[in-house]
Amino acid sequence: MRRAKIVCTIGPASNNLRTIRALLLSGMDAARLNFSHGTHQDHQRAAGLIRSAASALKKKVSVIQDLQGIKIRVTDFPDGNIILRNGQELLVCPGRSASSDKCIFITYPRLLRDIKAGHRILLDDGFLRLDVLGRKGNGLRAVVAEGGMLRSRKGVNFPDSKITAGSFTSKDKADLLFGVFVGVDYMAVSFVRNAGDILIIRRWAEKKEIVLPPLIAKIEKPEALENIDEILDNVEGIMVARGDLGVEMPAEQVPVIQKRLIDLANKRGKLVVTATQMLESMTHRSRPTRAEANDVANAVLDGSDALMLSAETAIGMYPAESTAMMDRIIRHTEAESPRSPEPVFRASGRFSEAVADGACRAAHEVGAKAIVVFTRTGFTAQLVSKFRPGVPVFALTPQDEVVNRLPLLWGIESMRGRFVFASQNATAGRVETLDARFIKSVQKCVIKSGLAKKGDTIIFVSSSAFLGDPNIIRIQKL
Ligand code: PGA
Ligand code: MN
Repeated sequence: MRRAKIVCTIGPASNNLRTIRALLLSGMDAARLNFSHGTHQDHQRAAGLIRSAASALKKKVSVIQDLQGIKIRVTDFPDGNIILRNGQELLVCPGRSASSDKCIFITYPRLLRDIKAGHRILLDDGFLRLDVLGRKGNGLRAVVAEGGMLRSRKGVNFPDSKITAGSFTSKDKADLLFGVFVGVDYMAVSFVRNAGDILIIRRWAEKKEIVLPPLIAKIEKPEALENIDEILDNVEGIMVARGDLGVEMPAEQVPVIQKRLIDLANKRGKLVVTATQMLESMTHRSRPTRAEANDVANAVLDGSDALMLSAETAIGMYPAESTAMMDRIIRHTEAESPRSPEPVFRASGRFSEAVADGACRAAHEVGAKAIVVFTRTGFTAQLVSKFRPGVPVFALTPQDEVVNRLPLLWGIESMRGRFVFASQNATAGRVETLDARFIKSVQKCVIKSGLAKKGDTIIFVSSSAFLGDPNIIRIQKL
């Protein structure tokens, strides 16, 4: 059983039933719909295919909506691209008009305000660089420091500038409404700089009476690193978004930042996804480089809950092969590594945490074959996951929306089931206790899954009153 989870980005290469089925069969636990690309129609189609294929295959899968945020791009070139030569001077202007090799338009209205002389403008993931010389009319005068071919609509990063524009754009608002309508399980927020960038979304949703799914802040700007604590306070998870982070920060700093972020998130009991270029060369080739295989293994050992594939599955030639390769590397690493991911999360005095911790310790102590979590909101399952237990964890929930959130959590297998309560408690209006026959049927389910047989020990845990008391660990012989 694999513990760390796999996120596949859905794109033109995978937005069809055959490939989505193949991704599910190769190990996809969550699908990312990237709203920087594609139409609502594309994403609706993907969501529909994912849900129906998963249900046909009896698999659980989370759908993550990724909001674009303030992604800044160059506009279109009439010929599709231009060549920038080192030393060449040109104008850089705010706006959406077509670009040329004399004047590049950039989709950021506050360009003249935020970008100053001496700042760098990085184009196409940092492969090309312009240095700003100063202002000229309605644009910035810049010199090409690192030239090359620049294609239409490539991304722009300003590593030296403070971007003052609001991060929650009107496109994000429309996309969010659409995501809620489609019923996504998580929402990832791009280019988060501080808690304010999250709170503005929460307040807006509250005003509109929208219930948001769990939010994942994508950490891809230097400012987010400075404000990581307040960001973690306001989200359910983070993504180590190495694509943009590695452009905005020197590449040599990214590995240690990754370890620090994973550690921080785990310590806070938050979800953490490591993303981008994990098996990048598999976009065009059927096998990864040695360095990529290492990167996947190391992200597991660092303690990630999930690892993400981007171009590999969105536009690559080998989407299912990339997923299967990631699955194999994770499995082998988890099975053979001398180091298992340290449970860096520590119970801090809350009952729910102590119960989750206790369940994992008890499982270890008595050699239990599995832990079964009864959870309504998924909270207890997430806590159990964060203690990184050595045995499989089944999370049983009656809530549809929770059943689809659990697959992203490390080590959690989710099951949907209506809870059956003992009737005397229900009428007495006291705590809700699960019916004994119902618990028996759950035991049968565990045996049927093949993970435990008659005579084995399993652990039941709940931090609600389902097992008779608000906080219960039951050690049960099957
Ligand atoms: P993106 O985010 O793929 O949406 O750019 C991930 C990253 O920047 O790493
Ligand atoms: Mn990004």
